[in-house]
Amino acid sequence: MLKDQAVHTLVHKDLTIEGFSRAAVQTYWRIPELKIGFDLGAQPWSFMGTPTWFVSHTHLDHVAALPVYVSRRRMMKMDPPVIYVPEGTLELLERLLRLFSRLDRGRLPCKMVPIKPGDEIELSREMLVSVSATTHSVPSLGFVVWERRRKLKPELQGLAGEQIRDLRLGGVEVTDEVRLPRVAYLGDSTPEGLDACPAMYEADVLIMELTFVAPGHRKDKIHKFGHMHMDDLVERRRRFSNKLVIGAHFSTRYHPRQIRHYVEKALPDMLDGRLHLWI
Ligand SMILES: [Zn+2]
Ligand SMILES: [Zn+2]
Repeated sequence: MLKDQAVHTLVHKDLTIEGFSRAAVQTYWRIPELKIGFDLGAQPWSFMGTPTWFVSHTHLDHVAALPVYVSRRRMMKMDPPVIYVPEGTLELLERLLRLFSRLDRGRLPCKMVPIKPGDEIELSREMLVSVSATTHSVPSLGFVVWERRRKLKPELQGLAGEQIRDLRLGGVEVTDEVRLPRVAYLGDSTPEGLDACPAMYEADVLIMELTFVAPGHRKDKIHKFGHMHMDDLVERRRRFSNKLVIGAHFSTRYHPRQIRHYVEKALPDMLDGRLHLWI
């Protein structure tokens, strides 16, 4: 496998989380089992087989590889990808692709779909993605990936299989939909983006920005630029019921050693060992 961009990998039960994220450098994530990715700050060669992407916002470190990705899929004779983008950015992104298409003299076939907070995107019978509002210095979105299952209605629990079958054949709905939040993605945002979407605290895996960790970096200033501070996480520590919380998108001002030092000092138990630093 060609190794071009940095990719860290973490396996959590049936999901593999792959990606890289540093503020102002580049951010990209994917979960191969779900066949989806978040953000296109760069596009490792190994990621091109993932056909569906969600762009949290259009800062360059989250979107610069859009033309590269679309072009590679065409060159490798893969189906045109589907890319969900914040409403309001579609026209500019389409224009950008048209310009690159002329410069590169190659077609850039893809389906870009504008989305907004409150939308739900059905990716399959078993999976949907909900979109929430986040707070950043440009329009930005957060995402929760839900697994959908059908469960027998509680009032039918005691019935025999044949009785349930007869009801079903008679046109009665015998199951309810159960939704399980599997993965949440909070791209660049102040803590309001997290609080606005309670499912982010419930998802099995939460990937969240944690740009600033040093005690000397003032929270109010950081919020003004649309980012999160370690203190924000500490203040909310009891709310995280996730099985795994991935802190990422650290500022380039910090050395990896400093990041670990500041975080472990602010939160010695690392959310009972559930907090994983993506460095
Ligand atoms: Zn960023
Ligand atoms: Zn940003």
